Amino acid sequence: MESEKAKVRHYGNLIAGEEDFHGTRKEVISPLDGNLFAYSTVAGREELRKAIDLAYDSYHGKWGRTSLQERKRLLLKLAEIIQERSDQYSTLETMNTGKTLRQSMLMDIPLGIEHIRYFAVENEFGTSRNIEHPEYPGSSGIVQNVPMGVIGAIVPWNLPFLMAVWKVIPALTAGNSVVLKPSTHTPLTALELAIDIRRAGFPDGSVSVVNCPGPVAGKEMAENRKVGMVSFTGSTEVGRSVAVGSAKNLKKSTLELGGKSPNIVLEDADVRQAASGVMFGIYLNSGQLCESGSRLLVHSAIKEKFLAELMKLMKRLRPGNPMSMETDISAITTLGQKRKIEMMVREGIQGGASVFYRKDVDGQVPSKGLYYPPTVLSGVDPESEIAKEEIFGPVLSVLEFSSDSEAIEIANRSEYGLAAGVWSRNRERATKLAGEIEAGTVWVNQYHLLSAAAPRGGFKRSGLGRELGLEGLMELTQTRHIFVGAEDSEMDEVEFGLLLPPESGDEKSQ
Ligand code: NAD
Repeated sequence: MESEKAKVRHYGNLIAGEEDFHGTRKEVISPLDGNLFAYSTVAGREELRKAIDLAYDSYHGKWGRTSLQERKRLLLKLAEIIQERSDQYSTLETMNTGKTLRQSMLMDIPLGIEHIRYFAVENEFGTSRNIEHPEYPGSSGIVQNVPMGVIGAIVPWNLPFLMAVWKVIPALTAGNSVVLKPSTHTPLTALELAIDIRRAGFPDGSVSVVNCPGPVAGKEMAENRKVGMVSFTGSTEVGRSVAVGSAKNLKKSTLELGGKSPNIVLEDADVRQAASGVMFGIYLNSGQLCESGSRLLVHSAIKEKFLAELMKLMKRLRPGNPMSMETDISAITTLGQKRKIEMMVREGIQGGASVFYRKDVDGQVPSKGLYYPPTVLSGVDPESEIAKEEIFGPVLSVLEFSSDSEAIEIANRSEYGLAAGVWSRNRERATKLAGEIEAGTVWVNQYHLLSAAAPRGGFKRSGLGRELGLEGLMELTQTRHIFVGAEDSEMDEVEFGLLLPPESGDEKSQ
């Protein structure tokens, strides 16, 4: 047993390109089968401070002097390096999170690589633009998008690689340096990313990954004057504390938070397509995606037919070891999350909901792994906790409506506003309805597809600010306006004359 353990890789933190083992060694147990497969290092405030200091020096040194073009060249190189190792990334991501290997290999890792390439070639973002001031003829202006400096980034455990890419790559594109704090449950692919960032030739200090407890990172990033902005993704509750901590120090924070997204099926939807989309919307990654479509809003005229189709599709889901390419159901990443799902469903049932369908996984998944059966709950009271609060698991609540306006009303009743879906054969009608929904992303006859060109973020309790797209890049900059006075301006005397009267001819000649 000891020799087995000795073979297990021990990951340090990546502080300015150096692997740093200060801190506590922690066992990394895979949720897919309960086995130890790596050790991580949980650092403390001192290591985080060191990373912030070095990020600050890098920003005020070599990294801060790189051009946008040079940064993009490095990003392309990084994408190539990760592409070559994509199988290793996929295996590690699946071992660490319990998501199916198919999902890691076909979605999380290739999408992350594509997003790195996107920022290497996109040409909407510029570091400056020239303007004219119509009020002041002859003058000119330069509006610069100046980096925020050091970005302190904090991410959750559900999409460790993608989330690290979304935090680090746009921040680097905009010229910032980054200190990323991954979830202590799933730090491994973020650490691999930092290793490859170094290999690609980014200067040391431009990116560090420090796996440390959340409250330590929250406090330090909010209070440390060398951190220019905090970029947080996680639960609404923790996000609020990050925003408060940052605001106390008059520091900008962006927040990508939780959701309770409605997936709306209109009576003219293609039932088969919509049922596939609703299933994909809630059971991908076992519902552990912030935008998961956890509220099914189905038109009462097609409810029965729709649910029958959904159940038919769910029967085809294959439980198994997520490392097999034949498995469709992901594990639950943490024990705490599994218990939360169990508790919320139990309380929902006590509150009157009933299980309409539950896909049995018992005996078909590794016995020491963490799993929860894909579940559909009907009879859900729209005012109950289970209808309103995020479960973050493979649980779909069924609600019904009988008109578009009622669907919109139920959809918008939520205090969250992260995402939504609308299913209809009439794309024009669905797109119009999409424009009535209070959410940062609305899919029409689709779900979950994320593009690096599109800003993502939330309305209401789902967040502040945007990530990805041009809007996401702009969040990571601050604006400087340089006003250049006219070479020979007759206006000078008029303006300065607001304070002093013009000189007389005699005064001028003295
Ligand atoms: P969480 O809020 O518990 O933790 C997120 C991160 O914050 C972790 O790295 C954690 O260590 C850290 N943290 C904990 N306490 C902190 C504190 N006091 N100050 C600063 N950081 C602290 O969330 P989770 O359980 O890891 O992830 C699930 C949640 O994340 C869900 O609510 C989900 O909706 C949300 N999420 C949102 C998005 C999005 O883009 N909107 C994406 C993925 C997940």
